[in-house]
Amino acid sequence: MNFELNNLIRENIKKLTPYSTARDEYEGDKGIFLDANESPFNNQLNRYPDPHQRKLKEEIALLKNVNAKNILLGNGSDEVIDLLFRAFCEPGKDNCIILPPTYGMYKVAANVNDVEIKEVKLTTDFQPDVVGIKKNIDKNTKLIFFCSPNNPTGNLADKNSVLEIAENFNGIVIVDEAYIDFSQQESFISELNNYPNIVVMQTLSKAWGLAAIRLGVLFASEEIVSVLNKIKPPYNISLMSQFIALGALEKKQMKEENVKIILQQREFLKAELKKIKSVIHIYPSDANFLLVKFDDAKKIFDYLIQEKIIVRDRSKVELCEGCLRITVGTAEENGWVLEKLRIYN
Ligand SMILES: *Cc1c(COP(=O)(O)O)cnc(C)c1O
Repeated sequence: MNFELNNLIRENIKKLTPYSTARDEYEGDKGIFLDANESPFNNQLNRYPDPHQRKLKEEIALLKNVNAKNILLGNGSDEVIDLLFRAFCEPGKDNCIILPPTYGMYKVAANVNDVEIKEVKLTTDFQPDVVGIKKNIDKNTKLIFFCSPNNPTGNLADKNSVLEIAENFNGIVIVDEAYIDFSQQESFISELNNYPNIVVMQTLSKAWGLAAIRLGVLFASEEIVSVLNKIKPPYNISLMSQFIALGALEKKQMKEENVKIILQQREFLKAELKKIKSVIHIYPSDANFLLVKFDDAKKIFDYLIQEKIIVRDRSKVELCEGCLRITVGTAEENGWVLEKLRIYN
C-alpha cells in the first residue's frame, strides 16, 4: 500500500480556512457571553451547542474503545457520506465504487457532488467481487463503499475481501456498519490502526432506536477526522441531539436488551415465514430485517399495503428480484404480518 492522505484531499479543501466559531475563539464555559449574538434570556436553548461535541465524543470513545479524536459526528450518516465526497472527490473528475445491491444514499451523494459512480455488482451470494473491484480502480477512484451488514441483503461482507481491497487501494475504504449491533461480528473499528485508509460509519438510527435525532458516527484516523472537521457545518449536531444521545449511552443496557428482543423476533419471524407457501427463500440476516423472496412479490406487497402493513419492495432491484425487505418489528407487529401472509396463502 502506498496510501498518502495528503494526495487525496481536494486542493480547495487543503487551502480552506475553516469557519471559526465564537466558541472556538474562547473555550471557557464561565463568564458573560456577549460574543455570539445569542439571546441572553435563558430558556435552556438560547446558546449554540458545542461545535466539537466533546462530551458526547468522550462517551462514544469510551464505549467503542477509541480516542475521541478518531470520531466525527454527522447529522445522520447521510451527512458523513456527503462530507467524504466533498473532502476527497473532485466533481466531474473523480469516481467512487459502490457494490449494488446496496444502500441508496451512496449513489445520491455521489450524484449530488457530480462524482462518477462505478458499480461492481455483488456476487450471487452477495459478497464483494474483489477481482471486479480491483479491475475498476483507476487513478481517479477515491472512495469505495462497503456495507456490512449490507442493506438490503442483510449479510456481512467477507472481512478478508474488504481488507484485501484496503491493502491494494490508495483511496478511502468506507465500511458502513449501520447494522453492526445486530451482528456477532467484530467491528472494523479494530482494524483502524492497521489500515490508515479505512473509515467506519455507524449510526444511532437503528439499534439505539434514535433515528429521529439524526446522529451518524464516523471512526477514522485522526488525520481523516481533522479533514472532515474542517468542512462540516460548525454546529451540525443540535443541543437536543447531543443531550438525547448522551442519555441513551448512559442506558446502554436498554439498547442491548432491545437488540436481544429483535434478534429473538428475527429468528421467530424467519422460522414462521419458512412455513408459508408463497415464501420461496429467506436470506441469512445479520441485521434487523429479512430479505424474503416470494412467488409473487408485487402482489403480496400490494396486499400487505391494503392490510396497512408496509414493507419495502425490493423486487425490481438487481439480484433481489422477487424480494421484499421486512423490518423486524415488535412481537405483536410480526404476529400481524405473519397472520396476514397465512391468510393470503
Ligand atoms: C439506515 C442506514 C443508515 C443510517 O443512516 P442515518 O442517516 O444515520 O439515519 C446508514 N447506512 C445504511 C446502510 C443504512 O441502512
